[in-house]
Amino acid sequence: MSEALKILQKYWQHQEFRPLQNDIITSVLNGQDTFALLPTGGGKSVCFQIPALMRPGLCLVISPLIALMKDQVANLNKRNIKAIALTGGIRSDEMIDLLDNCQYGNYKFLYLSPERLQSDWILERIKRLPINLITIDEAHCVSQWGHDFRPAYLKISNLKEHFPNTAFLALTATATARAQEDIISQLGLVQPALFQKSFVRKNIAYMVFQTEDKLYRIEQILKKNSASSIIYVRNRKSCTTISNQLNALGFKATYYHGGLSSKEKDKNMNLWMQDSAQVIVATNAFGMGIDKPDVKTVIHIQLPENIENYYQEAGRAGRNENKAFAVLLTNPSDIIQAENQFFNILADKTFLNAIYKKLCNYLQIAYGEGINEQFSFNLNSFCVKYNFPVLKTYNAFQFLDRQGIITLSQEFSEKISLQFIISSKEVLRYTSLNPNDEEIILTILRTYPGICEMKTALNLFLIAKKSNHTQKQVSDLLHKLNEKDIVDFTAKAADSSLTFNEIREDERTISKVVKYLENQNNLKKEQFKAVLDYVQNEQECKSKSIAAYFGEEVLDDCGICSYCVTKKSKPTSVDSLFTAIVSHLSECDLNSRELAIKLNNSSKELIFALQTLLESEKIIIKSNNKYALK
Ligand SMILES: [Zn+2]
Repeated sequence: MSEALKILQKYWQHQEFRPLQNDIITSVLNGQDTFALLPTGGGKSVCFQIPALMRPGLCLVISPLIALMKDQVANLNKRNIKAIALTGGIRSDEMIDLLDNCQYGNYKFLYLSPERLQSDWILERIKRLPINLITIDEAHCVSQWGHDFRPAYLKISNLKEHFPNTAFLALTATATARAQEDIISQLGLVQPALFQKSFVRKNIAYMVFQTEDKLYRIEQILKKNSASSIIYVRNRKSCTTISNQLNALGFKATYYHGGLSSKEKDKNMNLWMQDSAQVIVATNAFGMGIDKPDVKTVIHIQLPENIENYYQEAGRAGRNENKAFAVLLTNPSDIIQAENQFFNILADKTFLNAIYKKLCNYLQIAYGEGINEQFSFNLNSFCVKYNFPVLKTYNAFQFLDRQGIITLSQEFSEKISLQFIISSKEVLRYTSLNPNDEEIILTILRTYPGICEMKTALNLFLIAKKSNHTQKQVSDLLHKLNEKDIVDFTAKAADSSLTFNEIREDERTISKVVKYLENQNNLKKEQFKAVLDYVQNEQECKSKSIAAYFGEEVLDDCGICSYCVTKKSKPTSVDSLFTAIVSHLSECDLNSRELAIKLNNSSKELIFALQTLLESEKIIIKSNNKYALK
């Protein structure tokens, strides 16, 4: 048995590798630059974690997704592997300690956001580390042709100079052919070995259905396949609405979006994971790190922004290789609406400048200040205050986030209020007995003089900074004091947090990144056109057109998508359509909508055939709008 396989079995308890994993590991172990395109669920992390464990030294992992980094670090720690993530919100002095730990503490994995590489002193320290592998996760972020370009990724190629003999492993789930080439050149990969898993998912039937009544269609689909399902919607409100409607129809549905507290998220997610709820209605915040093998159906009821996202979300169906369905429900008015909405929310330079300035005012950041400061932030109240449109503003913030100017966390920071419920004398007694807690407690008492008399809102960041501790240390202590009935403490999940990565320089800050804006906007328009093409093109196999989008040529039609099925079942002549209608009506009465579904034909031909049959008095229409044989 190979050593790699032994490690897989020991730490992951998997008996064998998934396709390509072993090849990628071997390539990396040979010191070869490697580029791997592994669709969602392909088991990317094993590809760098195993070779890193097999060699002395540590693996540097660059990733833009803070939640994902934390998740992976927690998973490694659970397996007793030492790993650490340097994300936003960590102060410089702490960072030095943590990097020293990496050097001397036998760490195996160091996770970094690309923005961290921008600081020279961090780069200097990294150069001294015994790095055995450099992994670039979400590598499409380095390309302007990728769907998530981040200029900070461009700095990664600098590492190549300092680590000329270390293998680079670039990983991504989705990249078009144009993006792939660009990734290799921007990262400076040297004759990389290429591994690409086909984009074709043979067990997924891609379905595009035109329908005016989406709820009815969802009901039909869920009844037909009463197994685990995800319904993707655009906004938080639709999550609750659709979920309520489905519950009213007798399904067991729950929902998930970024605005829920982590408690609610866990609760709803567990309901679905354990099959107590058949359906989870979610925004695209749902998905990261989810690995439920038996998802039968993924339904989108609004048009996705690009094929990359659609492919990833739809790909959560059928991980167990059983037949599964990826359904997109749409109608002509959808398309018009989506187009309008889509183009209206693209931010331009003026808008970006305005947003940035107002944001600084809102958070009271003075010119030349703000770097590395973390704030809790509520997008809605910001938009209400300055009368900004929410989606467009959200997009602008996303852009600033990708450009590395700010970091938005999707997680929720805690809104904390606190009161000491023992006398100040007793507090002093406690601190003398617990000298480790003294500094934080005294800082709180000094900062909030009234805190023994009434419940006071507490700024965790401020207390951490003043007392020279991390926010986590402060928060841990407060929880402990609460348990000991020394304080009365409430932590309410509140807003998302926002970190400034650069000092405020108004126009200068924005003009540095605005050159990417137009390009990004054009790319977004192109990508959206590809979505429209996917939806509207009735001449091509859906599975084939997705593969083609990613530059993969597929010869055979899949045989199970909405195009393939219609082609098979569509009567070749009007006569056979007549026969099909009559045969269905001989079983039971049906309305036109039900006939359209049964015949998989919602075209004008069906309407024409029904009219002809009515006129020739072969069928009748009843008062309940159902057709019946005469
Ligand atoms: Zn097909």
